Amino acid sequence: MKLSVDLNDLGLPEYKVEELYPLGEMTYYDIEEPVKRSEEGGEPEDSFIYVKEFDCPLCGKKAANPIAKIAKLRPLGTEKDLRTRYKYFEPLKYDVLCCEGCGYAAIQTNFKPLAKPHKLLLDEKIRRPFQPGILKTGVLHFEDAILRYKRAITCSKVRLGKNGEIASLCLRMAWLLRSYSEWVTEESLVQEIKQEEIKYLAAAREGLVLARQKEGSVPGMPDLTVDYLIGILSMKLGYFQDAQKLFMAVIGNGMAAASQKDKARDRLAEVKEMLKNSL
Ligand SMILES: [Zn+2]
Repeated sequence: MKLSVDLNDLGLPEYKVEELYPLGEMTYYDIEEPVKRSEEGGEPEDSFIYVKEFDCPLCGKKAANPIAKIAKLRPLGTEKDLRTRYKYFEPLKYDVLCCEGCGYAAIQTNFKPLAKPHKLLLDEKIRRPFQPGILKTGVLHFEDAILRYKRAITCSKVRLGKNGEIASLCLRMAWLLRSYSEWVTEESLVQEIKQEEIKYLAAAREGLVLARQKEGSVPGMPDLTVDYLIGILSMKLGYFQDAQKLFMAVIGNGMAAASQKDKARDRLAEVKEMLKNSL
């Protein structure tokens, strides 16, 4: 995908998605409802955002960033991999906060005080080489938002972020890319974005599996949700047997809510069918 600026232009290292986790051969199964969107009838995007100043946890300066107005969001539904779609607007574009004083970026919930060793790493690898660009504080294009996510992923890698954190960023990036593909009409660009989305979904799956194995849990996500999500990502990427095992584990878990078990039962039936058709 051609972005007008990449992280190297800002002096920052860039971790390509293939460098985050080994992705291997990928076969993709699209299990979501296809969606095409248009802005017709919607309010202008600037009515969905406001500008807020945050204290940068790395350099201490004020970082002004555009933020989505939560009260204006109108959910349209949740997809199988738990992405929520909203009417007329994509709030994911405004999730990452950036500081143009030092280059630091993180999603809003992680834009918080840093441990000293992490600060030292970020000072060396982000703050020192960073060459400030022009930080938009108004409406963001999808490509601006993709670059912000790449900055957040790079900063997370530099400060030795856990697999759960990096996997969550990859998943959100995949959702952002899917949303982007719904708004564009040029078929070659749709395909290019889709390929990138699939790589981020695969990276999210690898990261979530490692998080469950090595870190036990994923911050901000109940374990059962993580397992269900790994099941869905496995289903999308052709790991049907893994998906079956995970859905069966959710169904057999005494802590799972009835609605969660119902969803897992539906997905189990679907994945059994997919497995049969693949043989
Ligand atoms: Zn800063």
